[in-house]
Amino acid sequence: MTRQRLILATRNAGKITELHAILADAGLDLELVGADAYPDVPDVKETGVTFAENALLKAHALARATGLPAVADDSGLCVDVLNGAPGIFSARWAGTHGDDKANLNLLLAQLSDIDDAHRGAHFACAAALALPDGTERVVEGRMPGTLRHAPTGTNGFGYDPILQPEGHDVTCAELTPAEKNAISHRGKAFRALVPVVKELVG
Ligand code: IMP
Repeated sequence: MTRQRLILATRNAGKITELHAILADAGLDLELVGADAYPDVPDVKETGVTFAENALLKAHALARATGLPAVADDSGLCVDVLNGAPGIFSARWAGTHGDDKANLNLLLAQLSDIDDAHRGAHFACAAALALPDGTERVVEGRMPGTLRHAPTGTNGFGYDPILQPEGHDVTCAELTPAEKNAISHRGKAFRALVPVVKELVG
């Protein structure tokens, strides 16, 4: 019997591996493929104003174009004292999409006068499942913590070197990938999506 195929709207191999492990742990035997398997499907513009809207936009676009169930996620860093910014602008906070170093340095400069008591922040992730018939579900996960004054650690990406997760005395960039996945916003969102995938995909 051929396995049900589920598409993950990302070209990031790390995300595919992570979701694969979570689905396998949950006893789901699905064939998980990345967006790279469908090179003719163009990337969708992230015009939403929330993580959930952007995750749903990406999942629907892929499900519609392929006729298969699709999962997408959208994430970012939300800083308390900035009223949740950079938020959906996390990847392009300093102007150039994906310039992690510039984004992190700009944020540190903006917070330079803010003392430890007011440096709360969290990573947030929305994970969406869309079916070709338009059915949709979205769940969210968060990783709360505080922001350091300088980057520490070399693992991970983005703002990992400055976010110290709650209950830890190291930054995300000092955790191993497995340690981070166990507590991360993305890990939590993907794990919350498992019962939804079970219900709607099988
Ligand atoms: P995306 O959802 O993968 O596009 O992530 C958007 C942006 O949010 C990234 O470019 C990072 O700047 C930031 N971000 C999201 N998740 C993480 C994380 O786990 N660690 C560090 N930065 C993150």
